[in-house]
Amino acid sequence: MSIVNAREIMLEAAKGKYAVGAFNVTDLSQLEGVVDAAVELKSPVIIQTSVKPAKFLGADVLVAIYRTIAAAAPVPICLHLDHCTEVGYCKKCADAGYTNIMIDASKQSYEGNVSQTKDVVDYCHRVGPISVEGELGTVGGVEDQIKVAEDEAQLANPKQAVEFVEATGLDIFAPAIGTAHGVYKTKNPKIDFERLGKINQMLNGGGIKTPLVVHGGTGLPEDYIRKLIEMGGAKFNVSTELKHTLIDAQFEYLSAHREEYDPGKVDVAVRDAIRKVVGHWIQILRSTGKA
Ligand SMILES: [Zn+2]
Repeated sequence: MSIVNAREIMLEAAKGKYAVGAFNVTDLSQLEGVVDAAVELKSPVIIQTSVKPAKFLGADVLVAIYRTIAAAAPVPICLHLDHCTEVGYCKKCADAGYTNIMIDASKQSYEGNVSQTKDVVDYCHRVGPISVEGELGTVGGVEDQIKVAEDEAQLANPKQAVEFVEATGLDIFAPAIGTAHGVYKTKNPKIDFERLGKINQMLNGGGIKTPLVVHGGTGLPEDYIRKLIEMGGAKFNVSTELKHTLIDAQFEYLSAHREEYDPGKVDVAVRDAIRKVVGHWIQILRSTGKA
């Protein structure tokens, strides 16, 4: 029960009008901190890694850690590969034991996106109960955020979104709606709530089949998050905030204990700081007690 894919916990979330957090980790202390918060608050959770740390640490190593921790945890936990642009590496991580794979071919032509995404979907479904996430449109970087929000062409077109999901057989779907990676430059980022609602209505109006993902969680105001959940967002990716928390916790601990050489204590500081940040997110996403 503890090792799950993303779709199964998101189906529950979408029905219950809450969302599951997908928290980006680059090391073991962070990963443990994410799990600590989920266990403490009895919440389902998604551990996510981007491609660089997966390659650096090794997909097999990450999966071994994940499976050991998740098998013993009293809450459902998914291991998600985020924004992978290489079909071959998506397949490698599926073979290794990731339970959710995101193929991000959103920079390709529409046809290229469909064919690469479908290739990964077909492969993962043959390997096992692995859900696959795909993206249509572009989630802007922090520099491009305003431009993306203003440029209609880069947001997901609802009609095309339905065609995309049907053509690829995707399990979960990330439509670009104006959210951005990194830190939002403006206090009130321009998010197209209605677009998410429309896509959700078209895909899931007759019963939830393909739960929706919101990227760029860091820095979104709480009332925006509530509205996005209302519009169908069932998974929120949070990366930048965890990176900042890791570095800040290390810096603060080391600055205050410059004469000490005890790496274990730095790890404890990181794990605890991550637990607090993730706990706050779990509360905002309303997944507390849903495990
Ligand atoms: Zn993302």
